[in-house]
Amino acid sequence: MTTRRTFIKTTAKLGLIPLLPVSMLSQGAENICTTKITTDDPVAKALRYIEDATQAVRSDKMGVTATDQLCSNCQFYTVSTSDAAWGECKLFQCRLVVGAGWCAGWVPI
Ligand code: SF4
Repeated sequence: MTTRRTFIKTTAKLGLIPLLPVSMLSQGAENICTTKITTDDPVAKALRYIEDATQAVRSDKMGVTATDQLCSNCQFYTVSTSDAAWGECKLFQCRLVVGAGWCAGWVPI
């Protein structure tokens, strides 16, 4: 398996670093996610992501009442630095979700 570190070392040896997109090199240093996920995204659909959690069909999970489950109190959520209403979801690979949203992957903090 090639890790990102191995990949970067190898490409550096080959003199290919200048050819890499800046986004590849900055991964892991400071992730700044700006792409907002849409509800028609296949992953969002699979996880039943919805921007208004009150409209979601939820059930109590891990001792948390269904109505208390929001993206903003999910383990995978990090508040966006550019828009407080949105946050990065680790489950959606650095795409933004609405803090008032919800999906089936919700896990308490
Ligand atoms: S994993 Fe958590 S933060 Fe991400 S969309 Fe689902 S409920 Fe929201």
